[in-house]
Amino acid sequence: MLVNATEMLNKARDGHYAVGHFNINNLEWTKAILQTAQELQSPVILGVSEGAGKYMTGFKTVTAMVDAMVDSLGITVPVALHLDHGTYEGAKACLAAGFSSIMFDGSHYAIEENMEKTKELVALAHAQGASIEAEVGAIGGEEDGVIGAGEVADPAECAQIAGLGVDFLAAGIGNIHGVYPANWKGLDFDALQRIHEATGHIPLVLHGGTGIPADMIKKAISLGVSKINVNTECQLSFAAAVRKYVEEGKDKQGKGFDPRKLLAPGVEAIKATVKEKMELFGSVGKA
Ligand SMILES: [Zn+2]
Repeated sequence: MLVNATEMLNKARDGHYAVGHFNINNLEWTKAILQTAQELQSPVILGVSEGAGKYMTGFKTVTAMVDAMVDSLGITVPVALHLDHGTYEGAKACLAAGFSSIMFDGSHYAIEENMEKTKELVALAHAQGASIEAEVGAIGGEEDGVIGAGEVADPAECAQIAGLGVDFLAAGIGNIHGVYPANWKGLDFDALQRIHEATGHIPLVLHGGTGIPADMIKKAISLGVSKINVNTECQLSFAAAVRKYVEEGKDKQGKGFDPRKLLAPGVEAIKATVKEKMELFGSVGKA
C-alpha cells in the first residue's frame, strides 16, 4: 500500500537521517528501487516528473503499476508515490490519479501567487490524505547549455510558505539539478540553518543530490534536511552499465538481445546506486 511521505519524513527529521527520493522512468527503475528499499528495510519515495509521467503514458498508468508492483513484490516498507516539480494542473491530475504525495513547484511565480496556489493545493492534498511539498527559491540547473547557480531561498518567504500547512519544503541553498560544474561554490549551510529555524523545523528537501560530496550531505542532514532527491545519478549508472554490456558485444551472444538480459546490468547498477545513497542518508533499517 502506498503511504504519504509526512510520517516517514517527520521520523527522519527526528532521527537525524534522510529518506531518498528516487525518480522513476519505467518498470525497471521502479522494480530496482522497490527491491533495494525492501532489502535494506528503508522507507522510500518514488518521484515522478511530469515528463516521466507522460512517458509512462499518464499518471494513472504510473499509479496502477506502482500499486500493483508493491503488492506483487511483497513490499512492506513505507513507499510514497510523489509528483516531482509539479505544475498547478499536474498536481491536481496526480491527486486525481491516486498519488500519495505531490510537489507543487511555484518557485517561478511571485511569492503571493506561489502562496495562493500552494494554499489551495494543500487543502486538496490533505483532503485525500496525501502529503505536499512546496518550493521557495528556484533550484539551479542546466538550461540551453548554461548551468545556472542555484538561488538561495529567503528564510522569511520559506516561513510564509511553511505556514500554509505544507508537509515539507524544498528551499534553494545553492544546490542545482544535474551534474555540478567544477567551479560550484557548495551548499550554503548558513542559509540552511536560518531556513530551518525560520520554518519551525519543518522537514527540508534537498534537490539535485547527484554529485554533492558525502560530507556536505551529512552536514545538510544534521541541519534539518530530511528528504534528498536523486535522479541523474541513477540515469548515469544505468547508462554506463548498459553501454558496457553492448560494447562487450554481449547482446550478440546467444539470446543476449533479449531486453530482459540487455537491461539487467542497468537494473543492477540502479540498485547499487540506490543502496549507496540509502547508506549515506542513514535510512537503512528505518522502515
Ligand atoms: Zn528538483
